[in-house]
Amino acid sequence: MEKVIIIGSGPAGWTAAMYAARAALSPLVIEGNFTQENQERGTLPMGQLALTTEVENFPGFPPGDITGYLASAVPASRKEMLAPHDPELNGVSGPELVELIRAQAVHFGTRVVTDDVADVDFTSKPFKLIGAGGNTYETQTVIIATGASANYLGLESEGRFKNRGVSACAVCDGALPRFRNKPVAVIGGGDSAVEEAEYLTKFASKVYLIHRRDQLRASKVVAKRAMGNPKIEILWNRVPKEFLGNDKDGITGIQVSSTVGAADLTVDVSGVFVAIGHTPNTGFLRGKIGLTEKGFVARPVPFRSNTSVQGVFTAGDVADDYYRQANTAAASGCMAAIDTERYLAALE
Ligand code: NAP
Repeated sequence: MEKVIIIGSGPAGWTAAMYAARAALSPLVIEGNFTQENQERGTLPMGQLALTTEVENFPGFPPGDITGYLASAVPASRKEMLAPHDPELNGVSGPELVELIRAQAVHFGTRVVTDDVADVDFTSKPFKLIGAGGNTYETQTVIIATGASANYLGLESEGRFKNRGVSACAVCDGALPRFRNKPVAVIGGGDSAVEEAEYLTKFASKVYLIHRRDQLRASKVVAKRAMGNPKIEILWNRVPKEFLGNDKDGITGIQVSSTVGAADLTVDVSGVFVAIGHTPNTGFLRGKIGLTEKGFVARPVPFRSNTSVQGVFTAGDVADDYYRQANTAAASGCMAAIDTERYLAALE
């Protein structure tokens, strides 16, 4: 039986593992699997950082060329998971950052299993976690750090063109030939949408940022940069009405309606990137643990990582609908590991 199992492999999961390992709890991380189903659900291992280009605001990574550091810090067995480092980045990329935190956790003795947790039994001790392939893991404590995944608009035509021009991840798909030197659109006005729009300017001839209000939600510095980018045109007060295209070419355009009573508009694009927020990855926990109205793991004790089940703790975006930063996820992973250590010590 394990002392602690951590479910999830983003910054929260690996930071929890690092602290648990240093507390001699010999943690096991169930990191998730690279399956088609996870790809479609947006629940691939390594969390949302794996889908982020440049991370400029994680402490310890000021602008500078970290090529040599990465070469020495990331184990050879994991190097193939990373694209070659881009020395023009202002610091570190998302995949590099999460790979570095993973390496740090493994360095201190974290063990890793590549599996998805499909079901849990928290009704008696030891807790049981059931893997997608049928493996059962028994443990005294659990840290849930499964993060959140991208939302879609839910239009029928959006579904029809998924993976044929409609994507929720510019970093994953933006460099595909279908988008190169052609106009594309990004939906949303938050940090993700604006960052994706900027990223796409590397490949696309023009990027329409389609936002339902007349003000961006994105942080000021990100918004200012996008507004100064000549390749980005913001269509204010607009929402997608219909994704246009055909079987042969996929997406060819998007019809947008106005939120302030103007006429509909049709924009020719070869791709639409949907960046309208995220849903917590708690499907496997429904009915097993307290969740909030929005489906996030509920934390009944203020400033603690406790959940409604004693011995089950949580960290990161799966329990956070407010801050949702790599920094806060990592910090909450640290808190969950400390809470777990103290809980186990009290049991002894
Ligand atoms: P978000 O901040 O929740 O923004 C979602 C955007 O989508 C909003 O602009 C929202 O419009 C729009 N939207 C939502 N539902 C919509 C719908 N049905 N139709 C049209 N538009 C819709 O989500 P996010 O951009 O993914 O960011 C999530 C969190 O991660 C934030 O805390 C953000 O700061 C953080 N983040 C940080 C970084 C960074 O620091 N480098 C990068 C990415 C994300 P309204 O504005 O009208 O609500």
